[in-house]
Amino acid sequence: MPVPITGVDVAAFRVPTPEPEADGTATWGATTLVVVHVRAADRTGLGWSYADPAAAGLVARTLAPVVVGRDVMDVPALNEAMRRELRNVGLPGIGATAVSALDIGLWDLKARCCELPLVSLLGRAAPDVPVYGSGGFTSETGGRLREDVIGWVEHDGIPRVKIKIGESWGAAVDRDLARAAIARQAAGDEAELYVDANGGYRPGQARRVEAALRDLGVSWFEEPVSSDDLAGMAAVRAASRADVAAGEYCWTLPSVAHLLDAGAVDCLQADVTRCGGITVWREAAALAVGHGLQISAHGAPQLSAHVAACVPNARHIEWFADHVRIESLLFDGVLRPSHGSLRPDLERPGHGLTLRTGDAQRYEI
Ligand SMILES: [Mg+2]
Repeated sequence: MPVPITGVDVAAFRVPTPEPEADGTATWGATTLVVVHVRAADRTGLGWSYADPAAAGLVARTLAPVVVGRDVMDVPALNEAMRRELRNVGLPGIGATAVSALDIGLWDLKARCCELPLVSLLGRAAPDVPVYGSGGFTSETGGRLREDVIGWVEHDGIPRVKIKIGESWGAAVDRDLARAAIARQAAGDEAELYVDANGGYRPGQARRVEAALRDLGVSWFEEPVSSDDLAGMAAVRAASRADVAAGEYCWTLPSVAHLLDAGAVDCLQADVTRCGGITVWREAAALAVGHGLQISAHGAPQLSAHVAACVPNARHIEWFADHVRIESLLFDGVLRPSHGSLRPDLERPGHGLTLRTGDAQRYEI
């Protein structure tokens, strides 16, 4: 029986970081997120994206009219209709974040209407998915970096950690290598150590950095060069012992295909709050299967857990410090890692999360 969508509400929030943060190619002092509620019958679905507040206007003015009145059972049709609606606006970037937030809210709403956990609606491929601790900003001095790494490995029991390198667009390689050495020491010999340059190096420089990191056993080199430079990334990959990973800026399924066809990565990354939501994230995972690769969920761990558990080739979920803090602050029902993995709760309908309206209010913009 059709369940017509009756309304969409959207709000934007800005949550300051405890101190200024930086990676190889950006600095920030706050994180903004756009939160969408979708209603049908007497149920409400929740989705969000870490996006510019401009995405909220796009949801309210342009995308809500596309979905209101339509059947929430038909999420892929609604996703397609939303993406078509943005033809002249531009889907990549802000458009894709708006579609993603709404798509996630629609899947959550459908699951709640069916009184099913989201993972049961989608169909589980695994009961849980490993996470890796992520943060270790280039702005952090040795003490703070050590605290981050020890927090993940010893306090949270996560045997995989990732730090940022590529400081100042690759202008501080000595400091990058020194910080990686601090992270290795803090993580111990057993934990996997990952680095993320956020596109800060040029290809030759990235190959030399990767060679210099081999003694530390670095096994994951994320965005060694700009994700716009697919040939450069493929060249780094060919020379690397570490797995090369990228995909956080894939806003559409064809952009995932281009990355994979270029032979640029050993592991695909995709962000459920950017790529087009749960609908497109699952398609991205399938494209990776077709290339013999795994997929790693970028950002938004509380949303990623549910979709990553429903594909057969999920490698892990990014337990990203900023998003972990914000999601605990703003939402009830958050999952915590156990034995280094996240396990969606089968006792609650949808993804099981609700906005803590009172606590969120002070961050609303
Ligand atoms: Mg990254």
